[in-house]
Order: sequence, then C-alpha cells, then structure tokens
Amino acid sequence: MRYESTRGGAGVGLDEALVRGIAMDGGLFVPARLPQFKIDDFEGADSPVDVASVMLRPFFSGSALENSLRNILEETFDFPIPTTPLPARSGSVSLLELYHGPTAAFKDVGAGFLAACLSRLEGDSAAPLTILVATSGDTGGAVAAAFDSRPGMRVVVLFPEGRVSARQAHQLTCWSDNVLSLCVKGTFDDCQALVKAAFADEGLSGRYRFSSANSINIGRLLPQTTYYAVASLRHYRESGNKPGFVVPTGNLGNALACIMAREMGLPIGPIVLATNANRTIPEYFDTLEWLPRASVQTLASAMDVGDPSNMERLRGLLGDAEILRERLGVVSVNDEQIKSAIVEDYAEFGFATCPHTATATHAWRHFDEATRDGQDWILVATAHPAKFETIVEPLIQTVVPLPKELEAILSRPSRYRTIDPDLDALELAMNEHFRAGPLDAKGTDGH
Ligand SMILES: *Cc1c(COP(=O)(O)O)cnc(C)c1O
Repeated sequence: MRYESTRGGAGVGLDEALVRGIAMDGGLFVPARLPQFKIDDFEGADSPVDVASVMLRPFFSGSALENSLRNILEETFDFPIPTTPLPARSGSVSLLELYHGPTAAFKDVGAGFLAACLSRLEGDSAAPLTILVATSGDTGGAVAAAFDSRPGMRVVVLFPEGRVSARQAHQLTCWSDNVLSLCVKGTFDDCQALVKAAFADEGLSGRYRFSSANSINIGRLLPQTTYYAVASLRHYRESGNKPGFVVPTGNLGNALACIMAREMGLPIGPIVLATNANRTIPEYFDTLEWLPRASVQTLASAMDVGDPSNMERLRGLLGDAEILRERLGVVSVNDEQIKSAIVEDYAEFGFATCPHTATATHAWRHFDEATRDGQDWILVATAHPAKFETIVEPLIQTVVPLPKELEAILSRPSRYRTIDPDLDALELAMNEHFRAGPLDAKGTDGH
C-alpha cells in the first residue's frame, strides 16, 4: 500500500510513513485507497486481534512489517474492548469502553501499535529515534507508556501548564530516562506549534531523528479502526442492526477511524461527532467556512483543540463541508451540559462517565426522539472517570474507584521540567536531558 500526502506530494510505503509521521510537504499521510470488505470477510473473527488481522492486512502489503502484523496486534490488543448495554429508559444504547489499556484512555491502542511498529523498524538503528509529542492530556501518557524503556527510542512529551488534571500530569511525568516530560508555559496549541517548529528545523530534526506520535501519525489512526470494526460486527451479529456511533471528538483521530471503518464496509450506521465548547468543526458544518482558531479550555480538556489537524484527512477522504454535514452529525456540548450529563449518567446508568465521554451521552440524550429510539446507538467512552476524579467525584458525590492500571502508574515518582513555549528552550532541555547522545553526534557529524 502507498501512503500519499494530503497536499499531493509523492507517496511512500507504510514503513516510511510511520517513521516520518508527517509528509515532506507538511501534509498528512493517507492510504492511497481504502480496502473494501464484506461482512463475510470477518467470518470467525471476533477478537480485536482477529478482526484487525483481516482489516489491517492490506495496509501492510509491501511493508517490512507484513509478516509481523499478528505479533504487533497481539502486543497492542492485550486488554479487552467491551461493549456494555446501558439500562436506558428508551431505545437501544450501549457504551464502548475504550479505557482498559495501561493509561486508561483510548489512545493506548494507537500508541501501543505505533510503538510496536517503530521498535521493530527502528530499534536496532545506530542513532535513537525521538518521538516528539504535544499533548492536551491523554496522548502524552499513552505514548510515554508505550515507548517507556524501549531500546533505541526516546520520547519528548510537551504538555500545557495548568491545563491537565493532577492524575493526568502524573501519567505524563513518571517514566524512565528515555522519556523527557516538559511542562510548557502555554496552551495545547502552543505545544503543537513547538512540535511543528522543531520538525521544520532541519538541524535539530536531523540530530534527534524526530518522529511524531500525535494522531497525525498514520500508525495511530489505523489500529483505531479496530474498535469500530469489532463493536459494529458484534452488534450486527447479535441484532441484525447497524449501530450508530457517537464519538467524543477533539483532533478528530478517533472519529476519523470510525468514518474509515464505515467507508471500508463495516456495518456502521450514522456517525455523530460530539465536541466540547471548541466549535471549529460545528461552525464549519454550519457556515461552510473552515476557521481554525485558538482552543478554549473546557472540562473535557483532551478535546480542547481549536485547529483539528485531522480535518485535512477527513476532507480528503469524504469532501468539504457540504458533503461532510450530509454524512456526519455534529453536536457541541458546553461545560454546563457536560456536568449535567455526568450527573444524569450516574443516575440513569449507575456508573460514572468521564467529562469527554459525557459529551457523547449528552448528545445522545438530546437527540430528537425519532433519532434516539429509531436507531441502535453505541456511545464511545474514551477515558476512565477516575482520571478526572476532581471533576467527576464532586458531581456524583461518590468516590470513583481507581482501576489497577492507574494505581500502578500513580505509585511511580514524577519528574519534569518547565519551559517557555519557544524552540531554543525546547532544544536546551533536550540537549541537557539526553546529553550523552545528540550532543556528541553534533560534534562528530558536522551539524
Ligand atoms: C484524545 C481524547 C479525545 C479526543 O480524541 P481525538 O482523536 O483527538 O478526536 C477524547 N477523549 C479523550 C479521553 C481523549 O484522550
């Protein structure tokens, strides 16, 4: 399979797309075509590993990893992805629990898969590969956990000061020496801009061999299609109905995976994007004008994105706003609505939802009756509520028990540096932390 740039540059193979992260012309890699499947193609395949082995095979044709695909998938999907029916007053609705991985958020799958691929491709190289990752909360933790202590791999995590919860901050900052955690005095967009600037700096990116693990890396996106394939096949086999999905959406990585799965022929009905008060996508659907902007801070902080980079992929895949709004729903959910959804979820379903998941439950609860009851829905739960206990617990007046994964992480010591949002500060912090490596290389390889 070839991977082309959204900006039209020449295509590359999967291995190069994974290592580069971003295309030479600044665009994002997209598969040259989406393979088409029939439901029968998945006969006998129920588990995430089995389903993904069928669905992702064509994406690996011609890759050095082709024969390792099954091992990569077994390493990635070593936790369950259950769909739990919800005891709702009306309609058929269930919760797709994407939070059973090591850092209790859905990004564990994309990060684990990418780490499994890159360590096979690059683990033996002479110079380490440095994964540069900007995070509004969950990405950095998932990526750090996935690459922690992997030989030949380094990670630099940039997170915005004061914008992530205490438990989230801990998950960004408790890793081995191959992970450098940087608290940036700025917003998520500043962190993302710093990552872009670092990639664009040829000297720096050559010395450190940068690669990206943000949801712009195609290696994050591809495995996420598995959730939607597994959940839709399971539902379709049980009920004969194609479920609709409501997907909490920030940078559009997770929702794009759902859309790709539908385009590939999986039995998926309507798809609704639930955003928080960052309204770039809903306003695009309304006004047909794409106006990226600075993000605003909300309770669903991992979705605080004002310039969702995967829109470039989505427009390439489906088309512009006129088409997008016919094929997708979008609902914007503000903080007051998130809070009341958490309270209502606890009362109606008997368990807590995280603020991101609550955007999906709110959207579903406020569908008109025909939409809500005339269609089977799967609401996507993107993180465990215990990650956001300071928001959730006062609302439901109950302690949310810690899952064992989070307990393990929170018992590790935390360390990080704070930097200004500029490239010199980033370079200095990296040089100091990774002193032995790139600084020596700087002296010997002529940069
Ligand atoms: C990242 C994240 C989202 C948003 O996902 P995108 O792929 O960026 O749209 C939603 N919820 C949680 C918990 C997340 O970590």
